[in-house]
Amino acid sequence: MSEQKSPQDVNTQKTESPENHKRRDYLHWDDYFMATSLLSAKRSKDPVTQVGACIVDSQNRIVAIGYNGFPRNCSDDEFPWSKAQKGTQDFNPLEDKKMYVVHAEANAILNSNGMRLTGTRLYTTLFPCNECAKLIIQVGISQVLYLSDKYAEKPTYRASKRMLDAVGVAYKRHVPQQKKIIIDFENFLEEDPNSSLGLNDLHLK
Ligand SMILES: [Zn+2]
Repeated sequence: MSEQKSPQDVNTQKTESPENHKRRDYLHWDDYFMATSLLSAKRSKDPVTQVGACIVDSQNRIVAIGYNGFPRNCSDDEFPWSKAQKGTQDFNPLEDKKMYVVHAEANAILNSNGMRLTGTRLYTTLFPCNECAKLIIQVGISQVLYLSDKYAEKPTYRASKRMLDAVGVAYKRHVPQQKKIIIDFENFLEEDPNSSLGLNDLHLK
């Protein structure tokens, strides 16, 4: 004899169906913003260090993103991507990328288009250097979340912490809840709705 389901059972069953629930493996805010920073870092042309940063307001809206690169219209092919080695015969301080690169955090701040950044959070893949810390403090960013602090012992980064500590800008290492996020275009390549519109000829530099 089969069991008869009461209306309550039916309701319970409906509530528990997978379609009726929110996804459980969705991306959490901090992972989302750090992943955005990492994605932004992919834009960097620096062969050694790629850094990305993302500024978020109190309502979890992305206000700006940035990555390390040369100032606008300073050619990636003409300016140096290497470090000038002191003590070598052809040492030339003008051939050092440090002279020209705008850091990811600075670029994110500059990309915010004049918006008030007071009380915002900055997500960055690498702990901010002293120069970026100055900017972070001056625009009123109140919290820094970072993935790596691998240069912590260098004076540049100790000076950075000294300033952030002095003015009470909080910073903490972000420990991702999700170990891996894969962005896969594969599924979207099967259809090609743009082919007839000529959009495939568009190239973004
Ligand atoms: Zn910096």
